[in-house]
Amino acid sequence: MIQHSLLCTSCRREYPFGEIRPRCQQCGEPLELQKVSHATINVADSLTQTMLERYSAFFPFASIDPLLSLGEGFTPLSESPRLSSDLGVRRLLFKNETLNPTWSFKDRGTIAGIQHAAAIGCSRIGTVSTGNMAVSVAAYGARAGMETFVLVSDSIPEEKISPIAIHQPHLIRVNGDYGNLYFESVRIGTDLGIYFLNSDVPLRVEGSKTIAFEICEQLQLQVPDYVIVPTSAGGNLRGIIKGFEEFVLCGLIPRMPTIVCAQASGCAPIFNAWSTGKDSIERVQAPHTIAHAIENPFPPSGNQALRKIREHDGLCIAVSDDAILQAQRTMAREGIFGQPAAAVPLAALRQLRKEGTVTEDATVVCVVTGCGLKYTAALREQPISTTHCTLEQLPSVLASPRA
Ligand SMILES: [Zn+2]
Repeated sequence: MIQHSLLCTSCRREYPFGEIRPRCQQCGEPLELQKVSHATINVADSLTQTMLERYSAFFPFASIDPLLSLGEGFTPLSESPRLSSDLGVRRLLFKNETLNPTWSFKDRGTIAGIQHAAAIGCSRIGTVSTGNMAVSVAAYGARAGMETFVLVSDSIPEEKISPIAIHQPHLIRVNGDYGNLYFESVRIGTDLGIYFLNSDVPLRVEGSKTIAFEICEQLQLQVPDYVIVPTSAGGNLRGIIKGFEEFVLCGLIPRMPTIVCAQASGCAPIFNAWSTGKDSIERVQAPHTIAHAIENPFPPSGNQALRKIREHDGLCIAVSDDAILQAQRTMAREGIFGQPAAAVPLAALRQLRKEGTVTEDATVVCVVTGCGLKYTAALREQPISTTHCTLEQLPSVLASPRA
């Protein structure tokens, strides 16, 4: 294996790459791999190569096992001319992550984590999640034939249990403080040799880089002005920023886009710290939002997300549940069915346009992180419009459907 090491994102202490170690022993902040500064895209037929094969030079693996892949990545960047004209921006594009194998962006980080686990000889993996990441790790763990542990809160709704359970991991409902489960799983996993692929482990962040890589490639290596990312733990945002940074370092693109960290106002710890000029995030008490997938009151990569946003003159924004639900409906009219969290970027863009922060000449990419079918209970908040008629009335109803 090529010599790589993990660096603390805050104090820069160095750790060996071959260990299961997501956080710094000294200061507790997340670790990361050094930025790649010399690499090229392995351009081949995307019908046969895997995502990791295409970007292999940007990953720390001596070899890629394509059999671990379920076909993640290579998701569409869909342009919405109607919406861009409604919102008054030059171009609006949706990076549609709902088309991943388990219908969310998490598959990118999961494949990178599984590849790392296999490379360091670890055959037991796990995660702490109740949503997208649990399903992703359960599916990829099953595919890889690895013993897989999924820790969920005891209060998880049944609707969320079945899509995880179908892949037959060890599914463990934990009664206790769910907020501490992330940190406890890291500690226990390190002791027992279980690789917990939690929200911001270094390789999961590496996997998220590919969202940035693909956006650049899909825009013929033009840089969008804004990339808006729904943000919870902070790992995906960090990965997307790192992806753009590495393409700049490698001379593939000339500059960074403005990165927007978008949160729900019912749970916005990163936005709160950013808007009040604080250096570190504070736990949100009593978080509540329709966007469950980003309802993390104390994001483990919150401080690093904050540092990176400030380093690159990015933005933070928080939007209301009403605005999120409206954006979910608006996006669905463009044919894209995202979960509420995935509609947060569009709601954020509407607000940024209203404030005049985003100007009319801007090209904007909204990252649609996960599919609306993931948690259909949230749809109860959406109005449903149907028309009832008899067979005899059908011709007149079809002739004037809105009458
Ligand atoms: Zn440190």
